[in-house]
Formats: sequence, C-alpha cells, structure tokens
Amino acid sequence: PVAIVLRDVGMCYDGETWALRDVNLTVREGEFVSLLGPSGCGKSTILRTIAGLQTVTSGSVEVLGSPAGELFNRRGELSFVFQEPTLMPWRSVLANVALPLELMGVPKRERLSRAMEMLAMVGLDSVANKLPRQLSGGMKMRVSIARALVSNPKLLLLDEPFAALDEITRERLQEELLRLWQRFGMTVVFVTHNVFEAVYLSSRVVVMQANPGTVRAELSIETPYPR
Ligand code: ADP
Ligand code: ADP
Repeated sequence: PVAIVLRDVGMCYDGETWALRDVNLTVREGEFVSLLGPSGCGKSTILRTIAGLQTVTSGSVEVLGSPAGELFNRRGELSFVFQEPTLMPWRSVLANVALPLELMGVPKRERLSRAMEMLAMVGLDSVANKLPRQLSGGMKMRVSIARALVSNPKLLLLDEPFAALDEITRERLQEELLRLWQRFGMTVVFVTHNVFEAVYLSSRVVVMQANPGTVRAELSIETPYPR
C-alpha cells in the first residue's frame, strides 16, 4: 500500500521562479524515506505540502488515500516535528505530550496514561512534571517526538529535527527514532541536509537539487534493521 504520492508537483511562491518543479515521488506505507539536498532545494516545501499546510501550484499530492489537506479532518493520523521543539512553555512535559489526545477528545485519565507511557518510551518519565525550559535541547526534542507519536500516527514528518543538537545527542536520538520506527511501523519522511544521517537512517534516500528544486536520484538501502 501507498502512503504518499506526489504527481508532477510544482511550487511557485513568487509567480516567477519555481521552488519545486516536476516532482514525482511515491512513499509506501512503513517506509523510512529521507529527503536529502542542499538548503533551498524545496525539502521543507515538500513536507509542508504533504502535511497540507501549503497548496501546490501545479500537480497533485495524495496522502493516506486523500488529497493532502483533507487529513485535517482525521486528527492524529499525521504528525509533524520541527527543528525547534515547539512546546507550550507553561505546560508540564506530560501535559505537552498529552495535548494531541486532548485535541482529539480523549478523556483525561486515558490521555495522561498514554502520554506517560509514551514519555517512558523515550526515557523521560522522570521529568513528566517539569516545565520544558527545565530540559536540555536533546530532552526537548525527545518530548516533541513523544508528543508526535502519542496519537499513534500513520505518518510522521520530521524537518531537520536533529540539526541543532550536538553530535552525541544527535546520534542517541537517531538510534531512538529508529527504535520507535521499528516498534510502531509508521511511515516516516525525514528531511535533512546531512548525507550520513540520511543514509544511516532511511530505507530510501531521495536526493534533491536546487534551482529548480527537483528529485535528482533515488537510492534504496538494504537496512540491517529487522521490521
Ligand atoms: P529547503 O527546505 O530545502 O531548504 P525550502 O522548501 O525551504 O527548501 O525552500 C525552497 C525554495 O522556496 C527556496 O528558494 C525558498 O527561498 C523558497 N521559499 C520557501 N518558502 C517560501 C515562502 N513561504 N515564500 C516564498 N518563498 C519561499
Ligand atoms: P540529552 O542527551 O538529552 O541532551 P543531557 O546530556 O543534557 O541529555 O542530560 C543528561 C541527564 O541530565 C538527563 O538524562 C537528565 O536527567 C539530566 N538533566 C539535564 N538537564 C537537566 C535539567 N535542566 N533539569 C533536570 N535534569 C536535567
């Protein structure tokens, strides 16, 4: 089964230059795909398009069987993780992780227990009652990932999530993301400009180029990880 299809996608922001042109891309369910390319080649644009945060100028985008954007009506099926963790500063770590479930109308008891379980899965159950500002950068990113996965989404989109972290923390989080992917089996689209990260993490690397942003090559990787 197919999770995402981009057909002849073009994006023109200013009515003149094409940020994306002739992008054709299919992502199968359960795949871990990286979008790799230099700054400005349109990686984030593709991700926002898949999330339905932006409409394309030409072509079509289908996500989980519907035109992109309609997923807003199916809360919890798609999660987005940004480079800068966007946690609510006045809410505890636990309440932050529980937020997507709150928006979905899950009863309080259940959402807190599911959020706690998810926090334990990223090794942060001991800081559940702290505020985001009391955590390190790596911990905040873990909380963001926990919040993204608490609704058990079919699709996880990550936009350079580890770029701002130091190397050791980044490596730890890469391992953790792989572990979560193996465990939950969600489809992952991961944006990075780091070649090593793309090759190490994904089952397929989509190599992009800029001016205009388009897919230059696709590289399939035999992962040693059992699924
Ligand atoms: P990447 O994520 O690969 O760095 P982006 O998708 O952010 O690339 O950007 C692709 C191109 O589109 C760039 O030339 C960028 O300047 C332009 N662009 C991105 N977002 C906007 C926007 N909201 N308005 C105008 N131009 C944009
Ligand atoms: P990470 O690899 O997530 O960046 P650190 O190396 O920053 O983690 O932190 C190591 C440990 O120190 C964490 O597991 C955490 O228990 C503790 N810690 C770090 N920063 C804080 C903080 N601001 N408040 C409480 N505990 C912290």
